Amino acid sequence: MINILDKSKCNGCHACYSVCPKKCIKMVADVEGFLYPQVDSKECINCGKCVKVCPILNSEKPDLTQPNAYAIVNKRDDVLKRSSSGGVFYALATATIEKNGVVFGATFNKDGQVEHSFIDSEHDVWKIMGSKYAQSKIGSSFILAKDFLDNGREVLFVGTPCQIGGLRAFLGKEYENLLCVDIVCHGVPSPKLWDKYVKYQEDKHGSKTVQISFRDKSTGWRAYSMKFEFENGKVYQKPHEEDAYMRLFLSNVCLRPSCHDCYFKGEKRLSDITLADCWGVERILGEKDDDKGVSLTLTHTKKGENALQSLFNSCQTRKVDLDKAIKENPSAIRSTIPHKDREEFFANMDLSILKSAKKYAPYKIGLKERLARLLKKIGEK
Ligand SMILES: Cc1cc2nc3c(=O)[nH]c(=O)nc-3n(C[C@H](O)[C@H](O)[C@H](O)COP(=O)(O)OP(=O)(O)OC[C@H]3O[C@@H](n4cnc5c(N)ncnc54)[C@H](O)[C@@H]3O)c2cc1C
Ligand code: SF4
Ligand code: SF4
Ligand code: SF4
Repeated sequence: MINILDKSKCNGCHACYSVCPKKCIKMVADVEGFLYPQVDSKECINCGKCVKVCPILNSEKPDLTQPNAYAIVNKRDDVLKRSSSGGVFYALATATIEKNGVVFGATFNKDGQVEHSFIDSEHDVWKIMGSKYAQSKIGSSFILAKDFLDNGREVLFVGTPCQIGGLRAFLGKEYENLLCVDIVCHGVPSPKLWDKYVKYQEDKHGSKTVQISFRDKSTGWRAYSMKFEFENGKVYQKPHEEDAYMRLFLSNVCLRPSCHDCYFKGEKRLSDITLADCWGVERILGEKDDDKGVSLTLTHTKKGENALQSLFNSCQTRKVDLDKAIKENPSAIRSTIPHKDREEFFANMDLSILKSAKKYAPYKIGLKERLARLLKKIGEK
């Protein structure tokens, strides 16, 4: 049976939990707030399926091919505004739904926690749109996706590379009606930290949250903001480098241990398509960038390539040089180095979020930049 001795070797993908015939594996949060499998040994029949399915313990990768790389922008301005980068996910999701398909991805539950869920109506695509920077709980999504696939429905499954690795291992065979999409993944922060941040915001604003955006583009694609909207009409919005939670995320102090030695990163992937921000687009394409958002999109399989080609009506697609694009986005291939005080940060989780951010991810902004921002603000008035 599965027994986690080294936490850096478990990404929490839920494949073992999903495959257990006795349903005797629970995913339990550790002190840092990350989920790990825990077996009820009284119920376990020692079938070994959980060990066999684990994509890290059985780390033999199939032969993977070199991807094609594209810079893609959704032609609809309203879609682009709500998408983190270039709105490719929206185009893929609506194309799946048009074929009576089902779309799995990360959503918020009623308490603002991030978890995987599915939708099958265009009206609901917005629930899955947008990057959510906390580890998304898979729950029963692999099991549900398999049911849909076995019943012949088209399934689009979007997740982190390790979630796609877990899904593929759980399914154990190729499905013609499955399209797997992963993202370039910096790493995932602790869901416990995210919970704490949502509670802090709700207490501060005296109201429940109705909408959250980690990537609000009203301040630009590159200078995106964290935004909360509350039931009482109040709004919190701060540029990401000023927001306490985003600073902690980007400083690598609060990421899952497996993210510092990620087995799933690389140019070649287990997914059909990889989505990312096309950072450095002006250098990659040699033209001015309008700061509305562009998706770097990699296709790894014929199926992925076909799915992308079918979006020509809704998206502007240009082929780009893979090496140049990866150079601008090292998270695609390289694991993040842990913050030197990572252990101390988690040992001090009872500190307020503002104090934690001040201590472990201080906001550093030069005098020149501060002046430029002040002048911009004055100019806007
Ligand atoms: C935790 C995380 C780290 C990332 N790190 C990088 C990075 O370092 N560099 C980079 O270029 N891009 C990164 N991305 C990807 C990028 O932010 C965009 O998600 C991507 O470009 C797709 O944008 P879009 O406009 O096509 O789609 P959007 O409409 O923004 O859709 C986002 C898609 O991502 C999925 N998703 C959102 N949150 C999660 C989550 N927590 N877990 C699993 N799936 C999720 C949703 O289901 C949705 O399908 C990261 C995304 C996440 C979630
Ligand atoms: S060995 Fe079999 S029964 Fe036991 S936990 Fe693993 S999958 Fe479940
Ligand atoms: S299958 Fe996934 S959740 Fe289970 S032990 Fe392996 S990596 Fe962890
Ligand atoms: S960095 Fe790797 S291990 Fe961490 S969430 Fe992303 S894909 Fe999974």
